[in-house]
Amino acid sequence: MIDLEPLTRHSRTALQFSGGKDSLAVAFLLRPVWDRLTFYHVDTGDLLPEVREVVGEVEAMVPRFVRIETHARDWTARFGLPSDLVPTTCTPVGLAIGASKQPLVDRFVCCASNIMAPMNYRMQADGVTLAVRGTKRADLARLPAENGDTTLGYELWLPLQDWSHEQVFDYLREVGAPICRVYEHKVNAPECATCPAWWNEGRAGYLREHHPDLFEIYAAKLRVVASEIVPVWETLRLEWEKI
Ligand code: SF4
Repeated sequence: MIDLEPLTRHSRTALQFSGGKDSLAVAFLLRPVWDRLTFYHVDTGDLLPEVREVVGEVEAMVPRFVRIETHARDWTARFGLPSDLVPTTCTPVGLAIGASKQPLVDRFVCCASNIMAPMNYRMQADGVTLAVRGTKRADLARLPAENGDTTLGYELWLPLQDWSHEQVFDYLREVGAPICRVYEHKVNAPECATCPAWWNEGRAGYLREHHPDLFEIYAAKLRVVASEIVPVWETLRLEWEKI
């Protein structure tokens, strides 16, 4: 049974809903009080179709749903493809001295620009004082903000903070929530289907099997990223052999 105490102290309450398993579990946990929540969702324009379906199902069920549209593909075309590794050759200084012609950006900067910041600004503009998130300790080595944190100008409520992945899946099955097919493949769903970063999501096999069109876009981006990293990696390898 969830303790609804945080809700008693706030009248402007947001539920941050990505369409992933954790925010879906939070949504179902708080079903009895949906009338007191506004759901906030960022659509980067690159959601997996099956995630988009889940988002649509929830949007149709809840009383208030705010869809914030961003354009991750346009942003990355302008500022650079995101990557887990960014060679200095692809940074603004590297580009300025002609070390490469291909900008790459840190994946955290890309996610912050296309997902976190737009969500945050919209909630602040709407006067939200309590934000509910599905963040769990199991997802990160260290939580950037704990339950009850107020540094963003609103209080954070993390009802699943100490849940495991398995607890989330068990709960979703128990309440009959729509579990996205992508979870048969991996424990986390991608924020952007064709993002060439977050390599640990292992999207190549899944996209190739279920979305050949998206796979082609993803593969083209990953080739660009690899073509920038591999020569730098090779230089490191040659030097490392002498150590
Ligand atoms: S998932 Fe990838 S493309 Fe989407 S916002 Fe994050 S880093 Fe950028």
